[in-house]
Amino acid sequence: MSSAGEGRCPVCAAPLRTGLCDWHRVCPRCAYEGSTLVPRIDTQAAGGDLDEVAREQALGTLRRRNFARLAARLAAPSRSLAGDGAKPRLLDVGCAHGWFLEAVADTFAAEGLEPDAAIAAASRARGLAVRDGYFPDALAPGERWDVIAFNDVLEHIPDVDAVLAACRRHLRPGGLLVVNAPDRRGTLYRVGKALARVGRPGAFARLWQHGFPSPHVHYFDDASLGTLAGRHGFGLRTRLRLPAVGLAGLRERVRYGGDVSPMKGAAIAAAVAIAIPALALLPGDIHAWIFRREDREDGERSSGFDGTPGDP
Ligand SMILES: [Zn+2]
Repeated sequence: MSSAGEGRCPVCAAPLRTGLCDWHRVCPRCAYEGSTLVPRIDTQAAGGDLDEVAREQALGTLRRRNFARLAARLAAPSRSLAGDGAKPRLLDVGCAHGWFLEAVADTFAAEGLEPDAAIAAASRARGLAVRDGYFPDALAPGERWDVIAFNDVLEHIPDVDAVLAACRRHLRPGGLLVVNAPDRRGTLYRVGKALARVGRPGAFARLWQHGFPSPHVHYFDDASLGTLAGRHGFGLRTRLRLPAVGLAGLRERVRYGGDVSPMKGAAIAAAVAIAIPALALLPGDIHAWIFRREDREDGERSSGFDGTPGDP
């Protein structure tokens, strides 16, 4: 299938239109949003050309808390996958510092995949099982996993169709695909769009990580991700809302990327901090979608999830 960079919608293949900025693309048929922003992760300096210490401070607390919630949600439905009391196998694609691997260590035999060699080596030095390389090239052809997770990763990959096809090949029947990604229906994203429409595109560009080594090339929602995953034989089992912003490290996060002055950063951080309680009641900006590899012969098996899919 196609990608936004090639001018076609990766969900429905309709020709894309230019959206709110010259690099922003929207699908007139299915409401998919993408960008023509080009990842340059291969060419950046070893260890990243953004300050990793600032990144750790900025994102650490919030990410670790979200990963703990996601790990707890995956534990029960994964237990039956491995059988014989063995720990189910989990692959975290683009595992970076290995925070998700740490969050699932009690429940899963977890391995990570990380293309940045310096970050992968640092995570290995902390005792985590991390391979160098990209998904799926770094895997052996016959390797099978019970869970494959993309935490803030899938929205950065242009050929999302090829990745989902590889997920199907590398997951056991009934295995779980986790996509933790920003949602285009989220409140912060809608505010960013509204500001861009009145000539203030800064927040919108920041949400797409414009100018970052690995910008976003997709902004998913239930419909686009459901269609993409469904095409590769995955059914949505549940969806978890994860907070997109927290008080800890907020000021560092606003300034992360380096182009915001200290005073402006403090002002933005204060405004977001005031809005945090209200944001919790409004549509979420980050969701973890949990899909299951559907196979005709086991279609009646229990998913291990209770209740109805989805929360706001
Ligand atoms: Zn479309």
